[in-house]
Amino acid sequence: MIWIFLGAPGAGKGTQARLLAKTLGIGHVSTGDLLRAAVKTESELGKKARPYMESGDLVPDDLILGMVRETLEGPAVAGCILDGYPRNAAQAESLDGMLSDMGRKLSGVIELEVPEEVLIERISGRAQAEDRSDDTTETVRNRLKVYHDQTQPLIDFYRGRGQLREIDGEGTIEEIQLRILETARAGAEG
Ligand code: AMP
Repeated sequence: MIWIFLGAPGAGKGTQARLLAKTLGIGHVSTGDLLRAAVKTESELGKKARPYMESGDLVPDDLILGMVRETLEGPAVAGCILDGYPRNAAQAESLDGMLSDMGRKLSGVIELEVPEEVLIERISGRAQAEDRSDDTTETVRNRLKVYHDQTQPLIDFYRGRGQLREIDGEGTIEEIQLRILETARAGAEG
């Protein structure tokens, strides 16, 4: 079982992906979390990724690909929620290639829909709560732009393949989780 989570920064992807993974008993693969851990330990990957993350740009695809492949072949082999990957068309194609090499299929793509003004409100709250260095105003603005320019086109891509499940991302964490769970369960049966 492999689900992709799509949504703008602040849409609640991380929180909801983590909850769903726990409920379904599968892995939670957040490329953002993996990269933040690499930055913290100052690994080669971390050193290369850091400037991109600090400005809110995407880390180059070749750095991400190896990281995701290792996770899919290792800890997430039984299934996972992909949170923050793919982020652009090239990554979506790489993922297709990897899955077909492994003889695996996507269960579906969950898109969390949240209006822009709510996103900005949530991100400023998170900046204070989690002390994320990439949650400054300038970086947030760039991350939203990068999302619109590079990640949003994937919504049409997956919709065209009949794999998109749109979820209303407004409400309490529990309300949204329930919507996602119903969708995931329907998807898994269908
Ligand atoms: P996130 O926690 O998913 O918002 O990711 C935080 C930052 O990590 C992003 O702003 C990017 O700089 C980088 N990042 C995370 N996932 C990817 C990805 N799939 N491709 C490129 N960069 C990524």
